[in-house]
Amino acid sequence: MFCEAFPDIQFFIFTKHVPSLLYYSHIPTALTALLIGFFIYVKSNRNQLSKILLSITLIFLLWVIFNLIAWTNPDSRMVMFLWSFFPVIYVLLYVLCLYFVYVFVDKKDISPKLKSVFALILLPVILLYATNIHLNGFNVVSCEAVEQSGFILFYYGVSAIIFLWILVFGIHRFFKEKLGDARRQIALLIFGIELFLLSFFSSSALATYIDNFELEQYGLFGMVVFMGFLGYLIVQYKAFDVKIFGAQALIFALAVLIGAQFFYSKNPTNLALNAIAFVLTLFAGYFLIKSVGLEVKRKEELQKISDSLAVANERLKELDNAKSEFISIASHQLRTPLTAIKGYVSLILEGSYGKVPAQIQDVLNKVYSVNDRLAHLVEDLLNVSRIEAGRIQYNFQPTQIEELVAELVDTFLVTSKAKHLELKISLPKHSLPKLLVDPNKIKEVTSNLIDNALKYTKEGSVIVSVIGLEGKLRIEIKDTGIGINPEDKEHLFEKFVRSKETTRMVVNGAGLGLYVGKNFIVAHGGKIWAESEGPGKGSTFIIELPFVNPNVKAGVSDQPAVAL
Ligand code: ADP
Repeated sequence: MFCEAFPDIQFFIFTKHVPSLLYYSHIPTALTALLIGFFIYVKSNRNQLSKILLSITLIFLLWVIFNLIAWTNPDSRMVMFLWSFFPVIYVLLYVLCLYFVYVFVDKKDISPKLKSVFALILLPVILLYATNIHLNGFNVVSCEAVEQSGFILFYYGVSAIIFLWILVFGIHRFFKEKLGDARRQIALLIFGIELFLLSFFSSSALATYIDNFELEQYGLFGMVVFMGFLGYLIVQYKAFDVKIFGAQALIFALAVLIGAQFFYSKNPTNLALNAIAFVLTLFAGYFLIKSVGLEVKRKEELQKISDSLAVANERLKELDNAKSEFISIASHQLRTPLTAIKGYVSLILEGSYGKVPAQIQDVLNKVYSVNDRLAHLVEDLLNVSRIEAGRIQYNFQPTQIEELVAELVDTFLVTSKAKHLELKISLPKHSLPKLLVDPNKIKEVTSNLIDNALKYTKEGSVIVSVIGLEGKLRIEIKDTGIGINPEDKEHLFEKFVRSKETTRMVVNGAGLGLYVGKNFIVAHGGKIWAESEGPGKGSTFIIELPFVNPNVKAGVSDQPAVAL
């Protein structure tokens, strides 16, 4: 039996009564999808994901072909035969999309249990599609099969459930995933697949509802969206060369479309215009593909370089951590015996173990001072490793700086006397407000500066002053020593840096004190710097601390007042 709408004899399986747009919209879309499917399948070494994707595109192609034939063939047996498959194709497509989402997100195959659930979903349509529970008649006027509404409801229901399933699964995994890149991938995939399924579902459901199956044809535009998203995902995260392929596919599709016009062009003007468009397309296409190729190559090279840089950087970080860890452990182990030595030597010197002859006392004094120097060095090393690991603790307390400095200067009087240097202190006439600082840290920095001043001065004096300025307090340590070269001044506060004069003088030191000091002062929101007119002209080291520091609270804190 033939439909009334198509009285003509058709050729092959299509008739000439259908608008050629139908072919244009269906065939290139299906072919492009199939081509991308195959391309990804080959490029990804036939992994599981690409197999599912290829199956989706094959099922989609089947749908397109069945649809086209059902649309253009007037033979009722043929239409009924093809029409009966639609629910199977439909549900299969949805299940495959769900399968794809699972494998994409989890990066592994699904469990046998889930596979059985998928099979169960498919079973009813596979068993019933060819029975009259599905199709129970044929409309000769519109040339369409008549579907049972109960069956339609069933397979639309299944589709809707799978649609929601994908959405819920996607949202759940999106929030579970912590990596930004992986999250973006999930979001894009779910968005693309849901758009594809939605356009399929809504166009088909609408077509059934208003009984106009022409509408259903638009469902396939969802495939374009899906493929677009998929292509983007692959380009963004995996193989760049898909971009070249995309450009080639575009040019190919354009060439086919324009080339097809040759068969429709009736007059020479049209033919000539078409020929020009065709040549221009090929010409532009050639350059487009070439430039995309170049861009892809450059991106790949850049990617390689940045990958290897990232690896090297990671390795460096590990090494740096290992080094800090080592210094920290080693320093701890060194500190304990040094403290013990200091204790025992003091006891001997005090006469706790009997009277010590003057000669031995002299030697013991040397042992004491060398041990002290070593203890300082170890303390500095420990501080450096703490600074680098961000583990310095501050205990901020309101502190009278003049008192702190005066006490400190007293402890250096013996040393200055031994070196025949004058050590003077200058304090403001009126006492200054208290400062919220970690007194031990300020003591450590100032002590190192006074120690340096005495160490690097052969004759003359060292003057320590505390000065109150507008909004800030200044501690100055001025000496008449070896002075500093302008070039050296810049770098003295860096780790392990010592000036040339210092090295020549052969004075002990590792060049860590100023580095540690600067870190402490900056963490208090203050400044520290050196001034000198040059070598031999003495130097002044200056610390400035703000009276009010809104970033600091009294008590113990790991946080410096200023980001270092
Ligand atoms: P160290 O004194 O242990 O070498 P520091 O970090 O305390 O380490 O000082 C770094 C360098 O700054 C010193 O080696 C020295 O070259 C220079 N320096 C510090 N204080 C003075 C000073 N008062 N006069 C001249 N140079 C100084």
